Amino acid sequence: MKPTEKTDDDESKCSMQTKQLRINNINRVYDYCLNNVICRRTQLLEYFGELFPSSECKRIMSTECDNCRQVYKTSSIDCTRISIEILKLVSNLNQTNLTLPYIIDILRGVNNKTIRDAGHHRLHAFNSCHQLTRLDLERLISRLIIDGYLKQEFIDQQPSSITAYLRPGINAVQLTSSNSQRSGNTTKIQIELIIRIEQVNNNNNNNNNNTDEERSNSKQKSIEQINEQCFIELKKELKIIFGTSSYSNVIAEQTIKELVKLMPRSKEKMIKNVHGITEELYKQHDFNRLLRILQRFGSQRDEIKRKDSIQNSSDSEHEIDFSLDFTDRSIYGKKRPMASVITTTITKRKRGHGSSF
Ligand SMILES: [Zn+2]
Repeated sequence: MKPTEKTDDDESKCSMQTKQLRINNINRVYDYCLNNVICRRTQLLEYFGELFPSSECKRIMSTECDNCRQVYKTSSIDCTRISIEILKLVSNLNQTNLTLPYIIDILRGVNNKTIRDAGHHRLHAFNSCHQLTRLDLERLISRLIIDGYLKQEFIDQQPSSITAYLRPGINAVQLTSSNSQRSGNTTKIQIELIIRIEQVNNNNNNNNNNTDEERSNSKQKSIEQINEQCFIELKKELKIIFGTSSYSNVIAEQTIKELVKLMPRSKEKMIKNVHGITEELYKQHDFNRLLRILQRFGSQRDEIKRKDSIQNSSDSEHEIDFSLDFTDRSIYGKKRPMASVITTTITKRKRGHGSSF
């Protein structure tokens, strides 16, 4: 046999590796879909080993991604204890086939008939993660799967459906033992998750130091900073365009100030609205270069105004969004978060904890 010839064993190993690679890729796509915090472009380019700051995505308002477009506060929370709790739950019930949605139901304390009949409402883990929303919990478990602390076993069910059951992953012991009291000097593994904190405003709260006046002042300050920076950059660019001959003979200081004030985003608007800019000048000196600067600072200024108007409207509505914080499975039929829909579509997961359900 030639050394390069593949044996049946190699073939099956190769197909196992390919299969695992594909499963890992699906898990990553699933994680990407669930992630409602990190910039979409940052996530995509990170996969290809590139660093992409979200500020770049936010630079042009019309093309920013859904995560950058939304206004919310984020917080990084330590999920190590919860993760160990989840691993213990999955290990202890390894003989019972448990799906991801069912595990989430136990962790969030959903008290329904299926859980009560199985006696799972008496488990230590029952309701132990009620402080996390369903989506955040799904994101955490997805993270644990990608990092190998958990895995999914895909089992063929008849007729022609596949169910994914959660099992401890190859790194499960590593996480639990590094955090046990007997771990000695071993570095503890920490699991962190950045989550959204929906902004809840209450004007009656005396401790609320983010008053309208302060917010308006800080908005004004940010806009002034943007204007100042834009003014400096326009002058720099004009120096480059005009080289040794002084631009001040052609463009008056007042014209630059007017450009900053109006921040035109198109050639037409620049020529029409700004005194001192003509079609001939624009063509002759390639003022597209100035336009690009104005577009960049203009979208930053728009962003501040837009966020401020969203803030004002949310102040007046006092509305808290609980749409993702389901506590009762009976609601599933009426309204489901996008993440759950994606889960069902991609992996054909079954609700319930066994094939008999
Ligand atoms: Zn983005």
